[in-house]
Amino acid sequence: MSNQLSIQINIQNDTASITLAGVINEDSNFDKIKNLNLKKYIFDFDKINIINSCGIRDWIKYISELNNAEIIYENCPQIIIEQINMVHGFITSKTEITSFYAPYFCDSCDKETKILLKKAEITNNKAPEKKCPTCSDILEFDALEKQYFHFLGQK
Ligand SMILES: [Zn+2]
Repeated sequence: MSNQLSIQINIQNDTASITLAGVINEDSNFDKIKNLNLKKYIFDFDKINIINSCGIRDWIKYISELNNAEIIYENCPQIIIEQINMVHGFITSKTEITSFYAPYFCDSCDKETKILLKKAEITNNKAPEKKCPTCSDILEFDALEKQYFHFLGQK
């Protein structure tokens, strides 16, 4: 597991597609994705393993400097969702979270599994029914729905 942040960026017209991987902490350098002056930023958090409090502070500062650009977060891991729910500024009024992971539990396998959900699958803070990838039994949602989906109502 890498202990550094890796950033891959692909710019097309006014949109940057940015893939983040590794660790967001005090050593993370966002220079590569600063001052681009684009209209839209799509961030893929799928490969982020760790974000610490310094990383959160720096990320919020970075986001606040994007000058009201449209921001999309994709494939947010549970650690990112928990920060979004707790920390003010992680998402702005221009941020849309299109897909994210949520914890589910299989009683038969006695195992937790993270399932990728789309924003559109959640209505009234209800977790959609999902099946265990191993045994196909119905999974139990393994967090407090109202708390975990809080960010969907934030703006
Ligand atoms: Zn199972």
